[in-house]
Amino acid sequence: MSDIAASVLDTDALAVEANSFASANGIQVERKKTDKSDDNLFLGAPMSLLPNAYPEQEFKKACDVAPAFNELVERVSQDAEFLQQTLGGGVSSMDPFTAKILKLYNQVYVDDSTANSAAKSADRLGILRSDYMLHSNDDDSYQIKQVELNTIASSFAGLSCKIANMHRYLSSRYETEIEDFLQTNRKRVITTDDDGKNDAAPFPPAVGVPVNPALDELPLAMKLAYDRYVERFTTTNSNDNNPPVVLFVVQDGETNTVDQRLLEFALWENHKIPVVRRSLTRLNSELSVDDTTGALKLLKQEVAVVYFRAGYAPTDYGDGEDGIEWNARLTLEASRATKCPCLGYHLAGTKKVQQELARPGILERFFPEKNETEKVAAMRTCFAGLYSCGDDATPEDLEAIRDVLDGGHAKYVLKPQREGGGYNFYGEEIVEKLRSNIERTGDSLKLSEDLAEFILMQRLFPPQQNAVLMRGGKVEGTGDSISELGSFGTLVVDSSGEVVHNRYAGFLLRTKFSGVDEGGVASGFATLSSPYLC
Ligand code: ADP
Ligand code: MG
Repeated sequence: MSDIAASVLDTDALAVEANSFASANGIQVERKKTDKSDDNLFLGAPMSLLPNAYPEQEFKKACDVAPAFNELVERVSQDAEFLQQTLGGGVSSMDPFTAKILKLYNQVYVDDSTANSAAKSADRLGILRSDYMLHSNDDDSYQIKQVELNTIASSFAGLSCKIANMHRYLSSRYETEIEDFLQTNRKRVITTDDDGKNDAAPFPPAVGVPVNPALDELPLAMKLAYDRYVERFTTTNSNDNNPPVVLFVVQDGETNTVDQRLLEFALWENHKIPVVRRSLTRLNSELSVDDTTGALKLLKQEVAVVYFRAGYAPTDYGDGEDGIEWNARLTLEASRATKCPCLGYHLAGTKKVQQELARPGILERFFPEKNETEKVAAMRTCFAGLYSCGDDATPEDLEAIRDVLDGGHAKYVLKPQREGGGYNFYGEEIVEKLRSNIERTGDSLKLSEDLAEFILMQRLFPPQQNAVLMRGGKVEGTGDSISELGSFGTLVVDSSGEVVHNRYAGFLLRTKFSGVDEGGVASGFATLSSPYLC
């Protein structure tokens, strides 16, 4: 293995430093329980040994645009007609999961104007993460482009703060030893002169690893939602000894528990707010909603805020259509508790909605005012090329599909309506999938309904940087890597749509070897890293 620096500190020695810092600070994941052992063992989280160079200006853009995306999600969530139009047709007929979320949304918020008043009176809490890759402009500089907008179970706020601390420590303590390594990577992402000959001009001083406020900001947003709930619904003397809780809805067998627990511990330490963790499966028999008040009870305990770290995948509903998990989801939604996310926010984060929002005029539908044009422009510059494969495909969409069939497949990614990593199609797989679902006569294409739930997306090609990736405390390898930046946003909105709290809330950088198409950390593709701003 090549050393990071030909000095006293080789890669292995630096890995020992990183592992020690990680252990001392809980940068860990839980080991998957097996049939042989259900021991509660923790091991080092997948992490990049050193931070990745990142253009400061693009990082700042991702932070600055976060509140606009928050507001967009809020507005989309309230537009039942848009959601029905976008997700109700071909998408629902091909994807029973999205169909079910949409059905519950209609049932609770749309169909019967007199029912479910508790849910309609609830505040909304958003914890979003907009993910970006740097994409090359014509002039060799890089610009962030949105990969996706997560509105449910946006994870790694906890661990990414700790990782930033580790990278700040290593890059300051061993500044001299790793200087060449960082400098080489900086050259891959920034141009310093007009000609794009980035070797020629000297670099401006690097800013380094920024402070990551996620572990303060996420609990703070939950606290604001919690306090509002208590203020609105709880009489002062009835609950003094038994305050309401924040309910974390989690997956059985989850390995990313430390990341979740960090939020739980911060809620207690900073705000004295108690958290209870439950799976959807277990919740069903423990939940009730008070008929008159709409208060949500977990056994005898009132729940003020419901925070979902589960419920985004069909596998979270093991009992199937109309089973106990779906019943629990509906019970949670129908209550007056503040949901993070409510069904509308969940739907606003689907890939089909992302594709639809990129169509001309759609952002303007949600931001029609004159003084909102800057917001619209800021969001729009983040959009990559997005194309429908459904019966709403425009001539431009069909042109992109033809491009794939005619050999342009390397420029695209094909995505179904799924969350959590591992489902996308790349390269030849896209061609195969499209060919077997398209009748082509000359230039005319007939798309089968099977494609309705898919979107085709321009493939992004971020700059490659050298990286040393670690998994379970061991160096997994060294080589060219690419990164994806996540920008957290938090949002509290009252039932009438008034925005009470809306801000940028921290970052996440994930790094994977260049040859790996998919990107999840928990799904085993990527590692946690940090931006080294320059
Ligand atoms: P998921 O909901 O499964 O996280 P994503 O849209 O984030 O779905 O895709 C998963 C991963 O696939 C991303 O983390 C990224 O690494 C890769 N990916 C997705 N879209 C693109 C794209 N347009 N260009 C390059 N890579 C992409
Ligand atoms: Mg993703």
